[in-house]
Amino acid sequence: MAGEGEVPAIGIDLGTTNSCVAVWQHDRVEIIPNDQGNRTTPSYVAFTNAERLIGDAAKNQVAMNPVNTVFDAKRLIGRSFSDSCVQDDIKLWPFKVIRGPGDKPMIVVTHKGKEKQFAAEEISSMVLGKMKEIAEAYVGSTVKNAVVTVPAYFNDSQRQATKDAGVIAGLNVLRIIKEPTAAAIAYGLDKKSNCKGKINVLVFDLGGGTFDVSVLTIEEGFFEVKATAGDTHLGGEDFDNRMVDHFVQEFKRRHNKDISGSPRPLRRLRTACERAKRALSSAAQTSTEIDALFDGIDFQSTITRPRFEELNMDLFSKCIDPVKDCLRDAKMDKIEVHDVVLVGGSTRIPKVQELLQEFFNGKELCKSINQDEAVAYGAAVQAVLLGGTGNENIQKVQDLVLVDVTPLSLGVQTIGEVMSVVIPRNTPIPARKERVFHTSSDNQTVVAFRVFEGERARSTDNYFLGKFKLHGIPPAPKGVPKINVCFDLDANGMLHVSAEDKFAGQKNQITITNDKGRLSKEQIERMVQEAMKFKYEDEQFKKKVKAKIGLEDYAYNMKNTMKVDSISSQLSPAEKEKIEDAIEDAVEWLARNQHAETYEFEEKRSELESIWNPIILEIYRSADGGRVPIQDHPPFTGSGSPFTESGSSSGFGFKLEEVD
Ligand code: AMP
Repeated sequence: MAGEGEVPAIGIDLGTTNSCVAVWQHDRVEIIPNDQGNRTTPSYVAFTNAERLIGDAAKNQVAMNPVNTVFDAKRLIGRSFSDSCVQDDIKLWPFKVIRGPGDKPMIVVTHKGKEKQFAAEEISSMVLGKMKEIAEAYVGSTVKNAVVTVPAYFNDSQRQATKDAGVIAGLNVLRIIKEPTAAAIAYGLDKKSNCKGKINVLVFDLGGGTFDVSVLTIEEGFFEVKATAGDTHLGGEDFDNRMVDHFVQEFKRRHNKDISGSPRPLRRLRTACERAKRALSSAAQTSTEIDALFDGIDFQSTITRPRFEELNMDLFSKCIDPVKDCLRDAKMDKIEVHDVVLVGGSTRIPKVQELLQEFFNGKELCKSINQDEAVAYGAAVQAVLLGGTGNENIQKVQDLVLVDVTPLSLGVQTIGEVMSVVIPRNTPIPARKERVFHTSSDNQTVVAFRVFEGERARSTDNYFLGKFKLHGIPPAPKGVPKINVCFDLDANGMLHVSAEDKFAGQKNQITITNDKGRLSKEQIERMVQEAMKFKYEDEQFKKKVKAKIGLEDYAYNMKNTMKVDSISSQLSPAEKEKIEDAIEDAVEWLARNQHAETYEFEEKRSELESIWNPIILEIYRSADGGRVPIQDHPPFTGSGSPFTESGSSSGFGFKLEEVD
C-alpha cells in the first residue's frame, strides 16, 4: 500500500472493448484486478431506471438493456457525426447516436426515466473514473495522476478528446502515450536482462476497435519509435459485425424474418458471435445457440473457422498494409526486424497470425508478453517516471528514455488548397521545424494561416486544427515578404504554431487547442460537475441497496431463527405471534416497496429490531431463570443478522458480554 501522503501515478489502457489499469509498486508493475477479481474491465457503461453501471456490471446486463448500454465510445471519440466510420457503426449499435451541436455525435440513453445525451468523452470519462476507483481501492489512497494510452494512429482531435475524458474523470493526465509504444516498454523491460545491443521490434496491436503498427529500436533502456501506422477503425468488433451479418442473413433465409432492426436480438446475437469468434481461435468449428432469438424462434447454427476467415479475409489482409507502410517509413527491411510482438486480443486469431508470419517469411511471432495487459504495464512505467511519488524503488526503469514520433504530418494550407507539410509524419517529438512562405498577391498586408494534420495532398481532405492571421505586413509585390512559420510540437503532442515577418518585425502565433468538435472549457466544467453528481448518486444508490439488503437479511434471519427449536420453544405464543406478524409485514412491505428510499428501509429495519431485540435479549437476561443461554444456539453471521445491536449494519454473532 502507498504510504500516507504518497500519490501514486497509474497507467490506464483505455480500450475499445476492455480497459486495464496498472501501478508501479513494490519494485515492479502490478496489474490491478477490479472488484470482480478481473484484470481487465469491460469499457461498458449502462443506464437503468435506478442506477448507472460501469464495467462488468454493465456488460452483464447488456442483453436485457441493449439500448441504454453504451460500448465502443472509443470508436466515436474525437470524430464528427458525419464521419463515414461513425455512420457505419451507428447502423450496428443498439444504442442511439444523434448529431449534436457542431456535428458532434451524442449518445442518447434513458436514465432514471429521463432521456439524457452524452458525448463520447463523457462515457470514456466514466470508464476512466471506474479505473481510477479500482486503482484507489488497491493502493488505498486517492489517485490523481495518470498516463493514459491511445492508439498510435489517433489524430490530434482524438488525443485531445481522450485527455478531456481524463479531466472529466478527475484525473491529471500526465501524458497521453501510444498503445504500441507502451506495449514495447513492457516487451523491452521483459527482454532487458537477456538482450545485448540494439534490437528492432515491430509491435502489431490489433484490439477491439483499433489497429496499430509501430516499429521501434530498443537499446539499453532507450526506446525510439521509428514509425507508426495503422487504422483507428479496425479490430475485433468489425470481425464480430461480419459474423452478426452472416447469421442475420441465415435467420432471414431460414425463417423469412429480419432481425436487423431489433436491438435486443441483435445484441444477443452479437454477444454469441463474439464468443464464437474467440472459440474459433482454438477450435475448428463452433456452434451457436440462442433461445427465442426473435418472435419466439430459437436459433442454432454452426460456423467453421474457414467460413469465419472467409467472412473477414479482406479485413485480415488489410492488416498487412500498415506493416509494409510502417517498415517503409522506418526505412527498415523486414529481415532486419528481430521480434514481431503481438498485442491486443484480436492477435489471437490464427489467420491474422498466419498472414503476419507469412509476411515475415515464416518468422516465429513473439507472444511472450500478455496481450491484454502489456499496454497498461508500459503506461504504468511511464507514469512512475513522469509523476511517481518520488520514493519508489525504480532502479529497474529509471534509465528508460522514450522517443516517440508524430503519427500524422502537420502543415499549413497554401494557395490552391495545397497541404504544405512543416512537420512530416514520424518525426521524433518534441520537434521544432521552420519553413518560409511568401505572400501570394501584390500589396498583401494580411496572411491567414490554416493549420492541418494528415497525409492528403489537398489540405481540406486533412483534419483542420486551427487558424490565425498575421497582420501588418508592409505592402510589397507578391513573393517579396518572407514569412517564417515555425511549428513547435512538445512531448505531450501540443502544437504551437507561430508566423513572423522578420523584416517588418510582425509576429503572431497560436497554440492548437483544436476547438472544432472539441468540448469547451465550460462544457468540460459542466461534465466534471455531472461526473461528481453521478458519483454521489452511485454512492447513494449503493447505500440504498445496502439498506434494502440489510432489511431483507434481517427479516429472513429472524424467520430462520424462529425455526430454531431451542429459541422458539422459549417464546410465549404472544411473543411468537408478534414476531411472525412483524416478519410477514416486513416481507410484504419489501415486495411492495422495492424502490423505497434508504431511510425507509432503515426505518423498517429499526421497527423489526425494536420488536426482536427486547424479546430475544430477555431470553439471555433470564438465562439463569430458566431460558437457555445463547451459547447453545447456532450463531448467525452476516450484515442482516438479527443478533446485532440496533442501528448496527455490520453485526456478527451476538455475544452475551456485549449486551450485559
Ligand atoms: P483488446 O482491445 O486488446 O482488449 O481486444 C479485445 C478484442 O479482442 C475483442 O474484440 C475480443 O473479442 C478479441 N479477442 C479476445 N480474445 C480473443 C480470441 N481468443 N480470439 C479472437 N479474438 C479475441
